Amino acid sequence: MRKLMVWAAALAVGFAFASCTTEKADLVLRNGDIYTMETNPAWAKALAISGNKIVAVLDRDQDADRYIGPSTRVIDLGGRFAVPGFIDAHTHFNSAGALINGVNLLTVADDQGLRREVARVVNIVGEGEWITGGLWGAYEEWALGAAAAGEKKKARWEPDRKSIDDVTANNPCLLSSFDSKLFLANTTALRAAGLEDARLEGMKLDARRAPTGLIYAGSPALRRIRDIIKPKSEERLLNENRAGLKKLAESGIVEIHDITSKEQTERFLKLQQNGELTCRIWMRPDLSRGAELQEMGMTMGVHPATRQRDHYLRYGALKGYIDGIMGTHGALFFEPYSDQPDNYGHYRTHTSDDPKLLAPNMKKMEDLIRVGVKAGFVTNVHAIGDKGVALMLDTYEKLMQEMGKTLEGFRVIHAQVIRPEDFPRFQKLHVIAEVNPYHISDDMRWMEERIAHERCKGAYAFKSLLDNGAMLSFGSDWPGTSAAEYHMHPKYLIHAAVNRTTLNGQPEGGWFPEQKISVEEALKAYTINNAIAAFDGDARGSLKAGKLADITVLDQNLLKIDPKDILKINVDMTIVDGKVVFERAGR
Ligand SMILES: [Zn+2]
Repeated sequence: MRKLMVWAAALAVGFAFASCTTEKADLVLRNGDIYTMETNPAWAKALAISGNKIVAVLDRDQDADRYIGPSTRVIDLGGRFAVPGFIDAHTHFNSAGALINGVNLLTVADDQGLRREVARVVNIVGEGEWITGGLWGAYEEWALGAAAAGEKKKARWEPDRKSIDDVTANNPCLLSSFDSKLFLANTTALRAAGLEDARLEGMKLDARRAPTGLIYAGSPALRRIRDIIKPKSEERLLNENRAGLKKLAESGIVEIHDITSKEQTERFLKLQQNGELTCRIWMRPDLSRGAELQEMGMTMGVHPATRQRDHYLRYGALKGYIDGIMGTHGALFFEPYSDQPDNYGHYRTHTSDDPKLLAPNMKKMEDLIRVGVKAGFVTNVHAIGDKGVALMLDTYEKLMQEMGKTLEGFRVIHAQVIRPEDFPRFQKLHVIAEVNPYHISDDMRWMEERIAHERCKGAYAFKSLLDNGAMLSFGSDWPGTSAAEYHMHPKYLIHAAVNRTTLNGQPEGGWFPEQKISVEEALKAYTINNAIAAFDGDARGSLKAGKLADITVLDQNLLKIDPKDILKINVDMTIVDGKVVFERAGR
């Protein structure tokens, strides 16, 4: 009996000891359905977070109690689904922000649509600010069918300044068509350029010989207007960034692998200094900047101001381009486009000196990659057509032999159409396939017209890539190209990879359904794989004690719902570096 009492006392002391030495957490998530992306445990109930790190992953709610102190915020997840925060491996962040706060006319091909969109932007930008761009008519163009793409259609919609003049009295506008061949100036812009009553070359006139506001590309009239466009103020550019960050947080994205210009790097720094940078950034400068960055004392993985290794804002890989894009028949193929028998696609300035970009100079790219490697950067290179992808793999193979090691972290970006014999080469070289699943839902409207059925078997062929041992990395390519708008919310990418249909569920059963992948595989490509792809695999990408606390909470369990319902999920909460950066209202 006495022995038992001593033992009980010791136990009590032990417990007291344990509970007072457990460091209280800043944040505890409990009662969740938590998918850790680890094997042991794969699922958890609760998480404790101190500062920016996960300190405990717990499979029982009561185990979380000892982490709760007076200043701990406790969030009851109510059984909701939590995953490691989504990492988007491909964004054009500044363009995305510019599109949110600026005119987006890709789907606009009528007067009312134009007016509505321009009025929305007038409210955002403030008096006196120029409104430019827009790319009207892109979807109208492609709706005509690939065969008619590029041809002049008589019935094509053409805007007139009258339809926007009354809503833009204080904002000069110069809007553009999707192919940048035609522009629309409003009366405020014409007046500012002294063209209101002019008849200068390049101005389209109406039946009464008055300017319609339409101005042709390359004309003296267009130059006159362009000369007086006031550049966006720094504050307006920062506001565009803020709009982009808000969208990312609302979408559960905790990090982007961004295509970043020098100017945008400065803006990221400014936002970080202001405490406004709510997303991790892995900045990918252009491939041509390797030598310049080295001279500045920069290398991959370092913060642009401190030059120290950083997990939040840092330089990433150098971004190169081998060929064009599918949307404009520019991706490079071994055989010509099925609907344009003389066109094989084209190179880019990284791979050609030809003004028409038709003659290759692969040595140019190889040299740029070597300079980058010397400066400590890996490369991520855009390659879309089957020849583009094959040439990129050839280049990487040569590099692997030169370096005498496999190419961890090097990527083929898009890897959109692949020949059967090229699939195994990704694993052999250890090169990552950075793919954009949502392109399937959008591009399938013209893929078979452009490259025919046989070649489409290797298009967005994620299952074949996985079966051949390639590592998949998911990115959105937000906000898209001059030919298409690409969604960034993860539900669109996961839906496309798992269902391979349009947003309306077409075609039934999926487009080349043998290439569908599972939700688990999609989540992996969106979380841990992208952390590894940014050389941060030990620090992030899964939910594990010691890792940085990046977490996304969804309102439904993606692994349990019918895949047809993936588009119905909502992001309820986003946690970046231990901080809650988004909570869905009215939930
Ligand atoms: Zn892109």
